[in-house]
Amino acid sequence: MTSLNQQLADYIDQGVVPPYQYSYPPRSTYRPLPEGKWAIPDVWAMDLANYQVPELNLYLHVPFCDRKCGFCNLYTIISTDEDVFDAYTDALCTQIRDHAEIIQARRLRTLYIGGGTPALLKPRHFEQIFTTLGDIYPNWRSTVEEVAVEATPSSIADEPEEFKALIDMGLTRANVGIQSLVPGEIREAGRGGEDEDVIRRAIHTAHELGLPDLSTDLIMGFAGQTPETWRHSVNELAKLQPTTISTYFLTVRPDAWFSRTGAYQYMWQPELYDRYDYARKVFLDHGYVQEGSVRYKRPGRGGYVQKVLTFHGVPLLGLGVGARSYTSVLDYMTGSVKPSTAEVADYIKRAKNHELAAVTGFELTGEELVRKRLVLDAFDLDLAELDRFGYQQHAAEFEPILDAAEANGLIHRLGRRIQLSPKGFKYRDILSWMFYSETVKTLDREYYENLHAANKRARKNMGATPVRITGIDLDEGTA
Ligand code: SF4
Repeated sequence: MTSLNQQLADYIDQGVVPPYQYSYPPRSTYRPLPEGKWAIPDVWAMDLANYQVPELNLYLHVPFCDRKCGFCNLYTIISTDEDVFDAYTDALCTQIRDHAEIIQARRLRTLYIGGGTPALLKPRHFEQIFTTLGDIYPNWRSTVEEVAVEATPSSIADEPEEFKALIDMGLTRANVGIQSLVPGEIREAGRGGEDEDVIRRAIHTAHELGLPDLSTDLIMGFAGQTPETWRHSVNELAKLQPTTISTYFLTVRPDAWFSRTGAYQYMWQPELYDRYDYARKVFLDHGYVQEGSVRYKRPGRGGYVQKVLTFHGVPLLGLGVGARSYTSVLDYMTGSVKPSTAEVADYIKRAKNHELAAVTGFELTGEELVRKRLVLDAFDLDLAELDRFGYQQHAAEFEPILDAAEANGLIHRLGRRIQLSPKGFKYRDILSWMFYSETVKTLDREYYENLHAANKRARKNMGATPVRITGIDLDEGTA
């Protein structure tokens, strides 16, 4: 029997690279909900009872992209058809109005329009969305700290007037997936049309137009990426001075195109942690502060408010096809987790007829709620806050993991508050995985094993099983 201390030390030594843990339970664990059991107004009424000062994050999903990037397994379909955008925006606005009472019962803190590439929509679509929100929640511009939209470099560089219109409407943050500043890696990501010149023009345009927060991403682990090419991307991006920079480890799942190309495997790449170290040092040297395991921001600016608040337990109402809602009783979607043009059309129809219901999801027990916070929020978490969800009943399970994390230098304990150390930021996702429940691990594995089994090329190219992307088992030893 290996102690938890030793298991955690071994995982760190082996360079285990889990997927970035940005939700718990992950959507792979969502299953059809019993019909009629969860009416959406009832879910949110139950949720309301858990908060003294009710707050809300609003997420609107726009599933359209003009391509499919090789690493992406988000809920997207390819479309640039403005008639479809018109119909979709109408449906989304109907859904916003249908949720008026839920939104009005809380203080609205953030608005994030994600996707997909919502920047493909025209200014009139955003105007319609913002007007609808203003109709049901007049002071949203005062209460909301972050109005964010996801964009591609070309959507900013090639359409600066449209982007300016968005800033004039109150946009505070654009999240631009750059992924790399090396031509071969940009092509590998499936973004051949967005060369380094387009990326530089997009960043300059955003700065010139006075966007308060430009958020950019880089990915570690593309096929063909070397320590030198990584250093190039990091150095060049630091010089361009976006307010926020995120760096992600690439983990390929069987629902991403990369699983079919033969260039990737379900392997951990310990050397990626050296790339993490390099990026962290460069960004800190350039005056950034680390906001999370993947994110750096300019002091006093930048960051990702909606993500920070969601990790911290503020519920999130997700509207639009493929959007997830996170409450303290149920995480749910109004459709399936698998994107399709037919489902988008069905969403538009059902939204217009006020027929959307929670159909897929995961029912949260008190124990799973505690796990959710431990998985997501160890940056700065007061365990006493979790007592109302039953932390003490399960403390015998969680405390040895926290002791192992402390013994391995991953967390500081400040009374009952825990905070990640610099080493903890680096290995945060390994620690997060250790808090997965058996139920969540089983459902997650089942989902990816089924996808793997149905993906002939993944079976041929990626390795025998997708187990390395779906959690780790703990021996029941003592720390
Ligand atoms: S990474 Fe972004 S642009 Fe690429 S397919 Fe996914 S959502 Fe669309």
